[in-house]
Amino acid sequence: MKNNINRRDFLKVSGLGLGSVALGFPYISLGAEGARVVVVGGGTGGATVAKYLKRADASIQVTVIEPNPAYYTCYMSNEVLSGERTMQDIRVGYEGLKSYGIDMVQESVKAIDPAAKELSLSNGSKISYDRCVLSPGIDFKWETIEGYDAQVANQVVHAWKAGPQTKTLRDQLLAMEDGGTVIVAPPANPFRCPPGPYERVSQIAHYLKHNKPKSKILVLDAKTSFAKQAAFEQGWEKLYGYGSNGMIEWLPNDEVIGVDAAGKSLTTASGLTFSGDVLNVIPKQKAAGILAASDLTDGDWCPVDRRNYMSLRHKDIHVIGDACTASSLPKSGYSANAEAKACAAAILAELSGQPIPTPAYTNTCYSVVGKDYGISVVAMYKLSADGSAIEKIADAGGVTPLDASAEDLSREVAYAHSWYNNFVKDVFL
Ligand code: FAD
Repeated sequence: MKNNINRRDFLKVSGLGLGSVALGFPYISLGAEGARVVVVGGGTGGATVAKYLKRADASIQVTVIEPNPAYYTCYMSNEVLSGERTMQDIRVGYEGLKSYGIDMVQESVKAIDPAAKELSLSNGSKISYDRCVLSPGIDFKWETIEGYDAQVANQVVHAWKAGPQTKTLRDQLLAMEDGGTVIVAPPANPFRCPPGPYERVSQIAHYLKHNKPKSKILVLDAKTSFAKQAAFEQGWEKLYGYGSNGMIEWLPNDEVIGVDAAGKSLTTASGLTFSGDVLNVIPKQKAAGILAASDLTDGDWCPVDRRNYMSLRHKDIHVIGDACTASSLPKSGYSANAEAKACAAAILAELSGQPIPTPAYTNTCYSVVGKDYGISVVAMYKLSADGSAIEKIADAGGVTPLDASAEDLSREVAYAHSWYNNFVKDVFL
């Protein structure tokens, strides 16, 4: 088992090194000894909170419930579509978490009983907790698109949870004839990874440019604008051709409301029908199903006290990551990791009767638009005075400028790849 970390290491690993969240972890977590923390979901938020709790105090029993034997990172999964990465490159096992002494239970949670402080698992067993941290991510609002459901999505994929559907989408692109049409349909806000669909469009274009240059990508967007829009559009124009005569065409403000999987076509709210050879429909999103089933949601998402991420609906249950009520902090892996660290520090403080540290957050999101062409957005956030929200700090950060040099754009790609390597280590290893 790896050793506990000292205070200096705390500061290093609590995000100052990676820059996601700045906070002081409680120095010694007296009183936390022997406490049982059960984490639901071994994704970005869940793995981070488990690791940081266990590293802070090895006497805490930390258990992670996760149905899958390994995690496929959504971050950089778009590079699988272009062929720049393989599925193996985005796969991470749980050996790293186990090496800290964290118990991994390969099951899913079926029910939560907040009064008994107990979880029911898919194998029929029960597990009790002193604190429960949920980071189960998102589910889809299938009912908003006629003809679309989890079954149909094996064919008309969303690929918005990296895994088998990422591979299917890649295979469909490989099988498409040159001159074919790919349709990508991003959802309305709020959703996981706001720039993700547009990075996806870029990576698909990168593949098509070099392999099927007569092909076209239509973006049927529910929104009228999107993250890093001007920087993406400039990159598309330069690298692929943008607009009705280019490889990429963006059609805003027209939501996909129907899928005809057999006929390979999509219907939009304005009554238009679009046919394509490869369809990628990303439905509207909500907190993962276990959260609504456990009375932890208000509408689509989970309201939490932003000081410690405790649910506003049930005590001693914390919710982090994409499932939390939308705040100005985007639904990103970077945010889930930062929230997990803030939550871990708060749990340690509360269990040992110390004041909860107040974090400051940053979020950086890279998008690889094409060869030697990357862009990013950085923003800083702070807790609101009453602790109810995370607020964006005005004029801190920004998007890659439109007059960035070729060298800077190329560096952004290197930074994106190095961020990925460091981030995966910070979360899982
Ligand atoms: P997840 O990481 O999805 O983890 C949820 C886990 O919970 C899963 O492993 C799941 O199996 C498990 N689970 C679900 N239900 C249960 C249950 N009932 N019982 C037990 N376990 C359960 N973010 C960035 O910061 N940078 C990027 O460049 C970036 N790129 C992206 C690109 C794409 C294409 C996509 C789709 C997303 C991207 N993101 C990026 C977003 C990022 O992946 C998510 O925001 C992040 O993973 C959210 O973490 P989470 O812990 O909330 O959920």
